[in-house]
Amino acid sequence: MRLGLDIGGTKIDAVAIADDDMRLLSRVRVATGFGAEAVVRNGQDAALQAAEAAQAAAAPAARIASVGIGIPGIVDAERGVVRHAVNLGLTEVELGGALAERLGAPVRVENDVNAASLGAYHLLALTGSMAYLNLGTGLAAGFVNDGALWRGARGTAGEIGHIPVDPHGERCACGQRGCLETVASGGWVARKWGGTAALPVLELFDAADAGDPRAVALRAELVDGAAAAVRILVLTGDVETVVVGGGVSQLGAWLLEPLRASLERQALESRFLASLALSSRVRLVPLDRPVAAVGAALSGVRPEAAA
Ligand SMILES: [Zn+2]
Repeated sequence: MRLGLDIGGTKIDAVAIADDDMRLLSRVRVATGFGAEAVVRNGQDAALQAAEAAQAAAAPAARIASVGIGIPGIVDAERGVVRHAVNLGLTEVELGGALAERLGAPVRVENDVNAASLGAYHLLALTGSMAYLNLGTGLAAGFVNDGALWRGARGTAGEIGHIPVDPHGERCACGQRGCLETVASGGWVARKWGGTAALPVLELFDAADAGDPRAVALRAELVDGAAAAVRILVLTGDVETVVVGGGVSQLGAWLLEPLRASLERQALESRFLASLALSSRVRLVPLDRPVAAVGAALSGVRPEAAA
């Protein structure tokens, strides 16, 4: 079996998938903890629990062939090192090496958006080229072509959240001004709308539906920003499909419908954009599936492949 761990700010989502047909064998969730020691220990626990659950349910003789990890922060996928995962309390940790030793299997570490990209591609049974647009606290994308991740020369491919779109916009954490992420992300909603809900964007869309003018305006800004991201991904990568995922995508059709409407409105003003058929190329990630953990499992390297 192949194990996949999606290490998030609060929980680790761990799955086991079958070696041959990649079907889901088990899924467990464990609290992430904070700091290198806790993250490594809880990652080990999550992996072992997923493996035991898979053996109990479906595959008693199955061994752990590989482990893949998706984690936020700057990831050196070759060396399995994670840096600057601020929310997890990690400045620099050799996560791959530490877990490989404890689990007795090769471990591959991926950036969380890249892992989710692979998972979305697989779970939607896509072919050809895809961009995965992650609308979470921030905004970033991953590219998959014919089933393989495309990271770019230095691992920066898809960092479209830091394309400046408003020269007079607010200062971004990256140092530039008016980045796309500063006008279209869950973090932007939380700053602008505030609110008390766990997911402020849900509260925002509720208020907009109820006719609150400030919410209506913010919703339109968010949706148009997401539409700009879709446009950028197709214009730079000419990907066949753009899959929208991340926390904001939990809105489901509530997000997808106005997003498509925004793309169609822009197409009315430009024959060039109309020819790209952007609205028909956008899809939502499957909301009830462990996309990032499955993608992490798929990114794991088998021993024979690593040799
Ligand atoms: Zn930026």
